[in-house]
Amino acid sequence: MDITVLIAEDNLDNRIIYRDFLVHSGCRVIEASNGREALDRCREHRPDVVLMDLSMPVLDGWEATRALKEDPDTASIPVLALSAHVVLDGDYRKATEAGFVSYLTKPIEARRVLAEIERALSTTGRTGEDG
Ligand code: MN
Repeated sequence: MDITVLIAEDNLDNRIIYRDFLVHSGCRVIEASNGREALDRCREHRPDVVLMDLSMPVLDGWEATRALKEDPDTASIPVLALSAHVVLDGDYRKATEAGFVSYLTKPIEARRVLAEIERALSTTGRTGEDG
């Protein structure tokens, strides 16, 4: 996958697991450990897709994603929510309304994360192969 992925996750162990798998799969990976960093990295690098932990310090994943969606420069970047919380019926709708393209519940295998990234890119028409 010739794409750039931003992993925004405050848990270092999780970040390393996803990063190593994605790098091994051919992705370029940028990392952020809180929502504020995620915004900065997004504006700086314009990743093809963002993996966004919902529970992070400084700025959480909900707030960071809201800011990304409000900025015309970053609004089209698909953002996948990563949550450690049990998924309730209302959560999917809330996540969709917040602009998330997908909602993943931890623990989730790295290869499933990659599959969800591929799905998100195909449904949003971003293949990562045409620049
Ligand atoms: Mn977290």
